[in-house]
Amino acid sequence: MKVLNQMHLQSHEQVNFFHDPNTNIKAIIAIHSTELGPSLGGCRMMEYASEENALFDVLRLSKGMTYKSAIAGLKLGGGKSVIIGNSKTDKTNELLEKFGEFIDRLGGRYITAEDMGMSVEDMEIISRKTNHVTGLSQDLGGSGDPSKVTSYGTYMGILSAVKFKLNKDSLDGISIIVQGLGNVGMKLIDYLINHDIKLYVSDIDAERVDQCVSKFGAIPIAEKDIYDLDANIYCPCAIGATVNDNTINRFNFDIIAGAANNVLEDYEKHGNMLFKKNILYAPDYVINAGGVINIYNELGNYNKDKVFSQVEKIYDNLMNIFSESKKQNIATNIISDLLAENIISEYKKSKITI
Ligand code: NAD
Repeated sequence: MKVLNQMHLQSHEQVNFFHDPNTNIKAIIAIHSTELGPSLGGCRMMEYASEENALFDVLRLSKGMTYKSAIAGLKLGGGKSVIIGNSKTDKTNELLEKFGEFIDRLGGRYITAEDMGMSVEDMEIISRKTNHVTGLSQDLGGSGDPSKVTSYGTYMGILSAVKFKLNKDSLDGISIIVQGLGNVGMKLIDYLINHDIKLYVSDIDAERVDQCVSKFGAIPIAEKDIYDLDANIYCPCAIGATVNDNTINRFNFDIIAGAANNVLEDYEKHGNMLFKKNILYAPDYVINAGGVINIYNELGNYNKDKVFSQVEKIYDNLMNIFSESKKQNIATNIISDLLAENIISEYKKSKITI
């Protein structure tokens, strides 16, 4: 595994490998950038097919965090961590405390948060050994579950995309498919139903679908049928990589805008294909930045109203990306990366001139 070569290819500052024989923890903490501030990003605990896969994941995700925070206007860099193991059977308090010690050794260059396989309770255990933790419960001075804020940001992003693509200030008359009725999807629907929309819902959990049908009059749809549906907006709020070679040619949507991470299976290829098909894609890390904006605010004096007003800027951030994409004839996800890189390099220059 050519780690340094991989770091070079994606411009990572530092990648840390940790192991402890007593707890058998195997963890990687990747710091992509600290140009704008300390690197912040969640910890994911899962079994990987190989160590290469774990490294690939943490490198990709940490870089994504750099871009996400830059576009959201936060003074944060990008980092991410993975613990290789089964989050249900391998996770112990000792293992989490050891992970807290590892984070602490980095002296604040990396701040952790929840991701797949980790919970608010886990963050509390990690915080016994380090202060560099966010996503704690309100009892411990944190802000609790960030999904309401993520949902609100996603809603703002949908409004922005509808304004740009369909020139409408409201969602009245719009048809929208929400895929994934979990923490984010359900709360997002609470905002969407303030408009007169045609709502399709899909989830592998039939109970959640039934709940939406009876509560909101939503139309249930099986996953296999989503990609052939004639609807204005496809809103992925479950799994990633749903825009792929098998689905993309079936799309008859105006807009793809949802909270799920890594929506494009092949970042460049599928971003470009959507652009050529004239489907407006709201880049995932821009529209789902509500969560990171929320935990960023935990680092100062947390104020919920301030958080929500910062999250509203997702509307303008996306509008800027859509406009630049049109002007430069470049896919929205690529434009977004270029804008993020520009923000970072301008900040670097401003530090040098000071
Ligand atoms: P969640 O686990 O609460 O909900 C996910 C939902 O998707 C569940 O109801 C699950 O049954 C459903 N699901 C799983 N596979 C599915 C499939 N193939 N088809 C349809 N439904 C399926 O997760 P969440 O917190 O709501 O997050 C949703 C997405 O948003 C994830 O991709 C997550 O990474 C991303 N995201 C979440 C946040 C946040 O604040 N929670 C922040 C940024 C990004």
